[in-house]
Amino acid sequence: MATAPLSRLCIHTITTKPLALPAAAKAYRDLGAAGITVWRESLKPLGIKESARILTDSGLKVVSLCRTGFFPAISESDRQKALDDNRLAIDEAAAICAPLVVLVCGAVPGIPLAEARRQITDGIAAIIPHAAKAGVKLGIEPLHPMYADSRSAISTLSQANDIIEELRSPHVGVTIDVYHVWWDDQLESQIARAGRARSIFSYHVCDWRSPTRDLLLDRGIMGEGCIPLRQIRSWIENAGFDGMIEVEIFSNDFWQLDQLQFLKRLKSAYLEYA
Ligand code: ZN
Repeated sequence: MATAPLSRLCIHTITTKPLALPAAAKAYRDLGAAGITVWRESLKPLGIKESARILTDSGLKVVSLCRTGFFPAISESDRQKALDDNRLAIDEAAAICAPLVVLVCGAVPGIPLAEARRQITDGIAAIIPHAAKAGVKLGIEPLHPMYADSRSAISTLSQANDIIEELRSPHVGVTIDVYHVWWDDQLESQIARAGRARSIFSYHVCDWRSPTRDLLLDRGIMGEGCIPLRQIRSWIENAGFDGMIEVEIFSNDFWQLDQLQFLKRLKSAYLEYA
């Protein structure tokens, strides 16, 4: 299949965590990337207004804001706090002209996963009106089951699709991240199902290092692991998705490197393997 074009390359600010937002935006632009996904912590140093100005001036398309969610909680008051933070994230997304907020849906040790999924569904339902009013969509990102204890009770695309079907809102869809779902034997059919529902909102790539040395901070660059990236992209494109291909890598190793050199390597890996 065709190489991924630079016109679809989007980079997450967390991928180059040592760079502040202005330096990241300039570096992505200089690299020839077309889009940027902004992590909320990247907005903190300069504030929303100045960050928004930098993003507009960069000429990059703001693809999404990462991330909010974390709906389940033991107490009602904590669940309300989570909703408030989600509404704040939606406002931040609108302020930086990001059309999408990515949801890491949450899980809490001690809350059964089925109950957590109930709380997640109810939580998303509660913020849909705010998202609709702001013109911001919500992307449910299933996370690898190794995070089912504390980060996400949504571990498969099938579970995300079920929630989307239940909520029946054009504002709710999925964010498909290869790192989390590449192992799933239902991946192709569930991507097709999401495509039929027109609910594939965004697509994240990196690679799965073997062995993986850290459960969170050892993501690989495209081509150095075992994820069949081209195959998954073909399924996604067959399902009708033609949006940005977002490189999202958290890696203690890569954060140690000169970030501009690392970005050159990232671009080559994207062109060769994504
Ligand atoms: Zn992701």
